[in-house]
Amino acid sequence: MIPGAFDYHSPKTLDEAINLLNDLGEDAKILAGGHSLLPMMKWRLAEPAHLVDISRLSDLDYIKEENGFLCLGAMVTESGLENSELIAEKYPILKDTSEVIADPLVRNLASIGGNIAHGDPANDHPATMLALNAIVVVCGPNGSKREINIDEFFLGPLWTALGENEILTEIKIPMPKQQSGGCYIKLERKVGDYAIAASAVTLDFENGKCSSSGIALTNVGPTPVRAKDAQDVLIGTDVSNEVIEQASNLAAEASQPVGDHRGSEEYKRGVVKTLTGRAILKAKNRAMGGN
Ligand SMILES: Cc1cc2nc3c(=O)[nH]c(=O)nc-3n(C[C@H](O)[C@H](O)[C@H](O)COP(=O)(O)OP(=O)(O)OC[C@H]3O[C@@H](n4cnc5c(N)ncnc54)[C@H](O)[C@@H]3O)c2cc1C
Repeated sequence: MIPGAFDYHSPKTLDEAINLLNDLGEDAKILAGGHSLLPMMKWRLAEPAHLVDISRLSDLDYIKEENGFLCLGAMVTESGLENSELIAEKYPILKDTSEVIADPLVRNLASIGGNIAHGDPANDHPATMLALNAIVVVCGPNGSKREINIDEFFLGPLWTALGENEILTEIKIPMPKQQSGGCYIKLERKVGDYAIAASAVTLDFENGKCSSSGIALTNVGPTPVRAKDAQDVLIGTDVSNEVIEQASNLAAEASQPVGDHRGSEEYKRGVVKTLTGRAILKAKNRAMGGN
């Protein structure tokens, strides 16, 4: 299928890109890796008159720890995350997430910024970012910059808190505490597919008890779903099998799946329950020093 006609812009700096977006208004769309936008354009679900390509803005491609945060530039690719030693060593939940996205060809171009900015509840990073309590950094015209808490970022299917003339430039993730672990587990119909459902879990422990937790779910609601009651039931406990069972049930209750070609509502709730239980156990093992 062939997309509609558009003008292509290749800004050399972030400021130039923002000015273009500001001048072109709602007729313009940012092009990053293109692996969500271009399929939509081919299906004529999106027909932007202008594409502003930010893929050459190498300033937006970095993975670094700074001031208590892991900072990911928006143009870090899935392959970049997958192959980063820092991510493998300290943030395995991000590696879990990247390596179950699509296939290697897609992952070589698809960007972390695009995955989040697209606002697709079927995408894998949004739930992981909720579990990690990430902050989204956004730049706009006249040097404006704002930080959006991830809980306020996803507003509905393909709808986020980003303004038309804003660019998501960075994702900030609080650095892990001493005894903490995270895990992302996804069930897909076949390798490379979007999730039937998936569960992201992070756990912090102090003196053998869980001091904080993050649990979020993929593709079982109009946005990624934070399973707050499931998180809360873990706090103050040693995350025994009994508590894991309770949390898994609460996560299934928090999910809002709809039946479709990937399964019935009931089946998806069952998947959420099972995956959340497994993800909590693995996150706990990682927090205790295992892998
Ligand atoms: C075959 C296939 C299978 C896939 N499977 C999965 C999967 O299993 N899980 C998954 O999570 N994803 C999957 N994807 C989607 C893939 O990960 C996308 O590439 C990703 O969601 C979007 O990243 P991108 O860099 O390609 O963004 P683009 O497609 O370039 O852009 C997506 C949207 O975000 C906007 N945007 C992009 N970057 C920014 C920015 N920095 N600031 C503001 N707005 C921005 C664009 O304007 C556009 O509206 C799949 C894609 C394909 C083609």
